[in-house]
Amino acid sequence: MNGNHRRPVVAGNWKLNKTLSEASQTARDLKARLASARDCEVVVAPVFTALASVREALEASGIGLAGQDVYPEDQGAFTGEVSAPLLKDVGCGYCIVGHSERRHLFGETDEMVKAKVRALLGHGLTPILCVGETLQEREGGHTLDVVLSQVSAATGELSADEATSLLIAYEPVWAIGTGRTASPEDAQEVHHAIRSQMETSHGPQVARGLRILYGGSVKPANAAELMSQADIDGALVGGASLNAESFVAIVQAAH
Ligand code: PEP
Repeated sequence: MNGNHRRPVVAGNWKLNKTLSEASQTARDLKARLASARDCEVVVAPVFTALASVREALEASGIGLAGQDVYPEDQGAFTGEVSAPLLKDVGCGYCIVGHSERRHLFGETDEMVKAKVRALLGHGLTPILCVGETLQEREGGHTLDVVLSQVSAATGELSADEATSLLIAYEPVWAIGTGRTASPEDAQEVHHAIRSQMETSHGPQVARGLRILYGGSVKPANAAELMSQADIDGALVGGASLNAESFVAIVQAAH
């Protein structure tokens, strides 16, 4: 780990995978393998339909539960959506927002992401705010512009108190599910830029405490090097989180 005082977070995004019994089995495996005390916050994000069973399987494990998305309104005529109070009701402490798959496959805008962050904070849930540039944007030299404007759109109006409970995940779109990973130095540069911008917008205390995760083809083989960078405080893991053994290896690399 990178030696600063921030507690690392490793979150597994299971995406649209696992039946109820598969999700519960993975959760039981994680609970058994991560039974000893650890200096790392661990979170899993199953599909909505598996949240209740995974919560039960993780009982007393200290492993947190996350939704993969949320709708900004609490209730009403919004067919197919799930709200922050309902995520809380089922046992979630966290929720992923603005994942690149939602931004790019489902047209989610910065405005929508901002409203979702606000809804989660309003119900005491921790948003895992995802930001990241496409390959075209990186090759055009626009990485920092894109990422920092996504961060500012979602967090610009938050108070310092609200910003304290936020997690940010830098996930270059070209590295998600592709087997390509940003080099630790490239990732560090973006993480540092995010922290500096948060210092300007929300003050040094918020910036110092803010945990910024890296995501994009994190695996046991590259996790330790990525998380040893000064501003990388953990990982958001897709593919490698589906298997308990590889996810636990990543958690161990965060120590
Ligand atoms: C993700 O979906 O957030 C992710 C980082 O996926 P993968 O680890 O599979 O690249």
